[in-house]
Amino acid sequence: MNDILILGEVKQGSLDLRTLELLTLGKKLANDLGKELLLMLLGDGLSPVAKEALSHGPDRVFKVEHPLLKGFVADLWLESIEQAVKQINPEILLMSHSFIGMELAPRLACRMDTRLTTDCIDLSINPAKQGGDGLLLRTKPVSGGNAISVFTCPGLPQLATVRGNVSEPSRATDSQGEIVDIVPQIDESMILVESLKIVKEDIIALDKADVVIAGGAGLEEENGFEILEDLSRVLGKSFGNVMIGCSRVAVDKGWISSDHQVGLTGTIISPDIYMAVGISGAIQHLVGMVQSKKIIAINTDKACNMFKVADYGIVEDYEKVISLLVKKLEELS
Ligand SMILES: Cc1cc2nc3c(=O)[nH]c(=O)nc-3n(C[C@H](O)[C@H](O)[C@H](O)COP(=O)(O)OP(=O)(O)OC[C@H]3O[C@@H](n4cnc5c(N)ncnc54)[C@H](O)[C@@H]3O)c2cc1C
Repeated sequence: MNDILILGEVKQGSLDLRTLELLTLGKKLANDLGKELLLMLLGDGLSPVAKEALSHGPDRVFKVEHPLLKGFVADLWLESIEQAVKQINPEILLMSHSFIGMELAPRLACRMDTRLTTDCIDLSINPAKQGGDGLLLRTKPVSGGNAISVFTCPGLPQLATVRGNVSEPSRATDSQGEIVDIVPQIDESMILVESLKIVKEDIIALDKADVVIAGGAGLEEENGFEILEDLSRVLGKSFGNVMIGCSRVAVDKGWISSDHQVGLTGTIISPDIYMAVGISGAIQHLVGMVQSKKIIAINTDKACNMFKVADYGIVEDYEKVISLLVKKLEELS
């Protein structure tokens, strides 16, 4: 029994950002355990991305290739992963808490008779040297986000999915690792669930934004988000990908959909600029945005919590501030 294995995901021919984050976490665990870090990729024509993956430092990259793995077909991916995992025999197996991880991890846990912890926000090793059992410590929010729990589970491989944006993405360096081919034994008869069609949803990928302008209860009404949209349009001319975020109260009031929500039970983000407009700075909101590079807060209450984490704060009614900002930015553009 050995090593830490990560299931890598590929988007548009490159390693997905979530996989790069997992590699950072995986390296820390591998160092603490004194074991190797391994990455597994599934698909077809994986050679270029496998080379890219090696530059991020895993000791081995397993290329599980088959023409039937070209698109994501859960049954075939599951079968291939099970075969590969039995061959590699890792001590720890990590997946992103992505659509792929959420689909495959529970089914794999069941097939391999091991326990799974989903949606972890941190992982570490219970140090054997200090009397611990050397098992994986899995940290995750519980009770609707009101508490954080740390779990250990006895089954092997120790299996966990990890939430996005909880560690820095790995950076490419020189690597001594090797690429290993695994050819899965799969065929079309193993497909139990047929995909009839794929419907693309307009999902708000807040974690891909360069700038997030987020509104809270202080907007006082749904129309407040139109004012934020005005600012977003002007900022978009100079700042790339600008998106609208919000607090949970704004969602609860029905002003905006939940995929805009930032925080513990929303999305965790770290954009270049986060603008908190009429948001008090409750802890459940702060955990979702405190890693932002620059935080700007607009709030009428100078004692609000958000000012404690903000780089720039404006104590004023948001409508006044934003209309002035829009005017000034339009003059400058
Ligand atoms: C289990 C659990 C999970 C949660 N998860 C999340 C989460 O993921 N994300 C999240 O956001 N919350 C979450 N919450 C809710 C969180 O605790 C807060 O209730 C919420 O973040 C508050 O939202 P808010 O700041 O918009 O509202 P408020 O706290 O009501 O703050 C409104 C702010 O607007 C300011 N304001 C008022 N008028 C103006 C004006 N005209 N101009 C400028 N400022 C003005 C006020 O001074 C105030 O600071 C969670 C709560 C629980 C219990």
